[in-house]
Amino acid sequence: MDGLPETIATEETLDPRDWADMQALSRRIVDDAIGYLKDVRDRPPWREMPAEVRAFFSAPLPRGPAPLADVYGDVARNVMAYPMGNIHPRFWSWYMGSSNFTGALGDFLAAIQGSNLGGGNHAAGLMDSQVVDWCKEMVGFPASASGTLVSGGSMANIIGLTVARNVKAGVDVRERGVGAIPRPLRFYASDQVHSCHRKAMEALGLGNRALRRIPTDAGLRIDIDALKTAIAEDREAGFKPACVIGTAGTVNTGAVDDLQALARAAAEEDLWFHVDGCIGALIAIAPESRSLVAGIEQADSIALDPHKWLHAPFEAGCALVRDASAHRNTFAVTPEYLESAPRGLASGEWLFDYGLQTSRGFRALKIWMALKEHGVEKFGRLIDQNIAQARYLTRLVEAEPALELMAPTTINIASFRHRLAGASEERLKAFNTEIMLRLQEEGIAVLSDTTVRGRHCLRVAITNHRTRRDDLDLLVAEMLRLGREIGAAATPT
Ligand SMILES: *Cc1c(COP(=O)(O)O)cnc(C)c1O
Repeated sequence: MDGLPETIATEETLDPRDWADMQALSRRIVDDAIGYLKDVRDRPPWREMPAEVRAFFSAPLPRGPAPLADVYGDVARNVMAYPMGNIHPRFWSWYMGSSNFTGALGDFLAAIQGSNLGGGNHAAGLMDSQVVDWCKEMVGFPASASGTLVSGGSMANIIGLTVARNVKAGVDVRERGVGAIPRPLRFYASDQVHSCHRKAMEALGLGNRALRRIPTDAGLRIDIDALKTAIAEDREAGFKPACVIGTAGTVNTGAVDDLQALARAAAEEDLWFHVDGCIGALIAIAPESRSLVAGIEQADSIALDPHKWLHAPFEAGCALVRDASAHRNTFAVTPEYLESAPRGLASGEWLFDYGLQTSRGFRALKIWMALKEHGVEKFGRLIDQNIAQARYLTRLVEAEPALELMAPTTINIASFRHRLAGASEERLKAFNTEIMLRLQEEGIAVLSDTTVRGRHCLRVAITNHRTRRDDLDLLVAEMLRLGREIGAAATPT
């Protein structure tokens, strides 16, 4: 065996040459990460990147090696220092969760194990299915339902709508395609529906116009009578009404459609009932607020988003389908190179039979670890806490003559604006946009804006386990200060 060591040494690997060095560096990275989260409140939520940082990302493909400590130094300087900011207690933009350290450890360990969750007989596969089972339990779905973890809510909605299309097509749409559907399908949702449904309709080959937007009531919930009228019109005109999408928490204002009424309407009209619960499905675990989403358990399919109110690090979405065989029949294909074996690794279930991906990441672990550590009851209380905080902010806005509430606050989203005496809508928009941008640039808070019934407003969406009420007090005080400064500087038009 003389000479063998040299032979072995000629083979390359990605493993470190010196594990002890790697251990020391890794400890430093973990220490830095803990400090980063511990001190998050002391940093601005967001800041603009200087030109040299932008330029850093134009460097060409590295040809040769660099010490990992230097690579990490680059990441710390140029990436960690300029985050989106959604882990900050005063980040309330758009709609996203604020991550958590345990979930980050889960992502790390998942990557260390490196398993592919396309399927197979291994522990990660069982955990993936267990997390899906827990999601079913959280929303009151039966154990016989099926589901799959996906990248996020947009994919989860596509999964649900694809099953709906195939079940209602009246033809084997997998084999023959949408061109063979005898009567064009119609889907329905409120005019507040998330834009991902438009993309889904387009990708499904049904087209944007096949999704009818139904007007909303004063609370921005779908108008059930208008829905029924639209369905009757469509039947009359030769369309096949196929699916109604209820939204549990719209992204604009947090409105929750009357899911019980929608479930009844869907049953009467023989429609698939899909719930976009990316924001609100998990309100079902919140003790004070769960009645808001009563009826969700009657859906045929649900999209929910663990990377929102479970604060899982991105990405994690979940699609649930009541009829497991309809779900499987929509996606399952078993090519010869993926046939299961009677025993061993290939004897487990093929999880890719429930969605579009073949290889799948081990996204269950980050969700599983955080749920185990805290228990689902705490996540429910945190949801109630955010809803109570949005109501608190709403009261501050209502008590402050300079501010104006722009939509009812149902859950954790408050929409409001700063008034400006005698100003046109256009000028109000410019004024409030300036306030929003200064709040960001001065490192105070990050909010976003939207338009509700044609009127521009600022929007605070509190999906944040770090927010405290004094953060909201600070927001209002700073908005009033900026309102005075910007209002005084502007020449009246
Ligand atoms: C966030 C959201 C989506 C999209 O989910 P992603 O996880 O961002 O893909 C869909 N619908 C609603 C109501 C949402 O809030």
